[in-house]
Amino acid sequence: MTLANRPALSVVAPCYNEQDALPEFLRRVGAVLDSVGGTSEIVLVDDGSYDRTWQVMTEAAGRDPRVVAVRLMRNHGHQLALTAGLTVCRGERILIIDADLQDPPELLPDMIALMDGVDGKGGADVVYGQRRQRDGETLFKRATAAAFYRLIGRMTDVEIPLDAGDFRLITRHVLDLLTAMPERHRFVRGMVAWIGGKQVPLPYDRKARVAGESKYPLSKMLRFAADAITAFSIVPLMASMTIGWVMAAVGFAFFVYSIVGWAFGHTLPGWTSLMAAVGLLGGMQFLMLGIIGAYLGRLYDQSKGRPLFMIRDIVGGPK
Ligand code: UDP
Ligand code: MG
Repeated sequence: MTLANRPALSVVAPCYNEQDALPEFLRRVGAVLDSVGGTSEIVLVDDGSYDRTWQVMTEAAGRDPRVVAVRLMRNHGHQLALTAGLTVCRGERILIIDADLQDPPELLPDMIALMDGVDGKGGADVVYGQRRQRDGETLFKRATAAAFYRLIGRMTDVEIPLDAGDFRLITRHVLDLLTAMPERHRFVRGMVAWIGGKQVPLPYDRKARVAGESKYPLSKMLRFAADAITAFSIVPLMASMTIGWVMAAVGFAFFVYSIVGWAFGHTLPGWTSLMAAVGLLGGMQFLMLGIIGAYLGRLYDQSKGRPLFMIRDIVGGPK
């Protein structure tokens, strides 16, 4: 797909209650785009905010013709809000960035240089920011994030880069491949890695938010991790097989032991061992059922074929 009036660059940012961060975000992104030159657009997605985010966005769209404000019907969550922005944007290259300025937009020229290919080295399809350091985030957040990237790395064959968020520059070609993927529990950074091509890291230090607080409470973090793992690995499903084999072996040993005991006339009191076995096996079975349920529920969601996101309004951009 080629479009005659494509801007050279789109900046796409999902925003959930970011009224305080947006003015500074637009100032810094605007300055970077001015310095880079060429045609560009800034696609802001209001993910069902209940503060003044939408007003701030539409005012910006009134002032700056580059700004396109997209409002979703309700809160769809970070990954789907991002997907909405990626579907709407028209650029030849797309910068994915958070609205809270934790990822510095000033890295854009370096990303473009890496994508163009420097020193005679070939260009890249994806340039992703890799977090060297994370300021202003709690020890808990940093520890759980580090554990998460390592866990998912061990559970899947896809080379998902460690400590990289969604902050990245991708080509239109990669974007078209990404938006053609119909899965609803989206783990965008993993899906981009899965696409392949030449993907190059750009190390950077992640800053604290400029305003507001994290929109990822523990419940959302857990859901995000569960979506990522179920979308990229069936190791949890297979674990029941391994555990089943171990349990079967232990069960067989007990079987032999009790037959032999019976043959030699020992009758065992047996209450403790019985309760231990029942409890252990019962717990294990519920756990495995839960794991199957986690996959089945997602399969059910997918089978309904509902739209990934619903747009309420778009303000700004081409008519
Ligand atoms: N976000 C969103 N919808 C949500 C939660 C978050 O669009 O339901 C946006 C948020 O406005 C920000 C980005 O996703 O631009 C990352 O969220 P946040 O900074 O809260 O996550 P953290 O950096 O703490 O992991
Ligand atoms: Mg953030």
